[in-house]
Amino acid sequence: MAALCRVRHRWKRTNCIQLITRNLTGTFDYDLVVIGGGSGGLACSKEAAQLGQKVAVLDYVEPSVKGTKWGIGGTCVNVGCIPKKLMHQAALLGTALKDAQKYGWQIPGPISHNWSTMAEAVQNHVRSLNWGHRVQLQDKEVKYLNIKGSLVDEHTVKGLTRTGKEIMLTAKNIVIATGGRPKYPTHIPGAVEHGITSDDIFWLKETVAFGIILFPIWCAGKLTLGCQHPITFSLLCVLQQMAGLVTDYMEAYGTKFSWRSVPKSVDKLSSGALQVTWTDEQTGKDQRDTFDSVLWAIGRAPETKTLGLEKVGVKLNKESGKILVAADESTSVPNIYAFGDIGEGRPELTPTAIKAGKLLARRLAGQTNELMNYDNVATTVFTPLEYGCVGLSEEEAEGRHGKDSIEVYHAFYKPLEFTVAERDASQCYIKVVCKRGGDQRILGLHFTGPNAGEVTQGFAMGFQCGATLTHLKETVGIHPTCAEELTKVNVSKRSGLDATVTGC
Ligand code: FAD
Repeated sequence: MAALCRVRHRWKRTNCIQLITRNLTGTFDYDLVVIGGGSGGLACSKEAAQLGQKVAVLDYVEPSVKGTKWGIGGTCVNVGCIPKKLMHQAALLGTALKDAQKYGWQIPGPISHNWSTMAEAVQNHVRSLNWGHRVQLQDKEVKYLNIKGSLVDEHTVKGLTRTGKEIMLTAKNIVIATGGRPKYPTHIPGAVEHGITSDDIFWLKETVAFGIILFPIWCAGKLTLGCQHPITFSLLCVLQQMAGLVTDYMEAYGTKFSWRSVPKSVDKLSSGALQVTWTDEQTGKDQRDTFDSVLWAIGRAPETKTLGLEKVGVKLNKESGKILVAADESTSVPNIYAFGDIGEGRPELTPTAIKAGKLLARRLAGQTNELMNYDNVATTVFTPLEYGCVGLSEEEAEGRHGKDSIEVYHAFYKPLEFTVAERDASQCYIKVVCKRGGDQRILGLHFTGPNAGEVTQGFAMGFQCGATLTHLKETVGIHPTCAEELTKVNVSKRSGLDATVTGC
């Protein structure tokens, strides 16, 4: 009986939705067609369907240059946040195993790491998420189409299947959430042919003894897992203080950095090894070494080229290639919207894409006028020593308010866990950037240390509520934690006093 009721309810709902949508859409196939089934696109399409809209989501993965491909869910699930955090955990466990011996654990034999075991477990988890997304779309009655979408006009999307078949869809509103893909330095001979990117690394099945990486540093951290240490080449000349702390820590734990080095070429030797030539900018001389793999991590390019945007009149930022969007995610063409990594000026983060997608769906369904607030989004870099932050950097605060109008409080602290393990804590650091005067409104909060993501997430709420230094000082810490150190900062940079935390 219960099952029958469920079927009846479902029948009623479907037919009801169809009636409503027919009225709403007139001659359109859908109320909403979303191109891109990543963090933002999925959130938007599911929310819209839940609000009674007739929705289709198109997701299509163009294989990487190396032929790597994956399922629905976009960057975060397949080649971003999720596999990255799991591999980060693998790296942290390696360090924890070393610490464990100091805490009395007897570990027979040398500690070694098996890439294939880790990769298989991570990839299985990702596949389970792909499956989960498909089930959810089905449950919420979102039509999922594994086709590559492009715009024909402001209400029509053309989909191309893998076999080249064309499918036409019309919609009242179209949302573009196609994200981005890693860039290659195409001007460097051999870079594309012999290099890989973050689109490949999480799907490698075999052990990778790594060589060369170009920023960002999150990647090098994971690769210290392997038996050979990675070298990270960096063109950054002036590192900000927080980034400097992270790279110092990584250097101490085996990542080699070749500062101010410009890669020139990558050649494959008959042995299969990759020979990289680079120029040392300080001496002007070329240097050469061989590596097992070359991974480029030099930023991402938006997926706009094949979307037919210009034909329809959707305006792009010529330099970045991203879509120009207003506060309500609308583009230059009415009823075409864009958000997530593809949107100009938007943070390239999953939670912002998800929240923006949900809010857009609600606005399109006439449920709310609420806009996404992109200010003061907290974030964390999952390097071996994690770095979390919310708000302005010291440099930004200085630029915006003037050096004399800000006060920077800081502390070098030692996580309790590091003491017994005899780990160097000299890069564990806290910085609170405040507006000078009165209760000293907090403009920026920065933290390097264990679990920076968890710590920063908690303080981010206080930040949203307009926290001041007085509030921070009034907050009673939880002892003994790293987060409590934030509630104790009292040495200003201006004072020149030693900021090292001593005692309990
Ligand atoms: P995406 O998730 O990229 O989804 C776009 C989808 O559209 C893809 O599936 C793509 O294949 C598809 N597509 C493209 N063109 C078409 C087309 N023409 N037709 C149909 N489908 C198409 N963010 C965090 O918040 N925390 C992290 O820890 C984090 N770690 C990251 C680590 C790495 C290595 C990377 C690369 C990114 C990371 N990010 C992280 C960023 C995060 O993954 C992105 O900000 C987020 O996925 C953007 O979501 P999106 O919906 O805009 O696009």
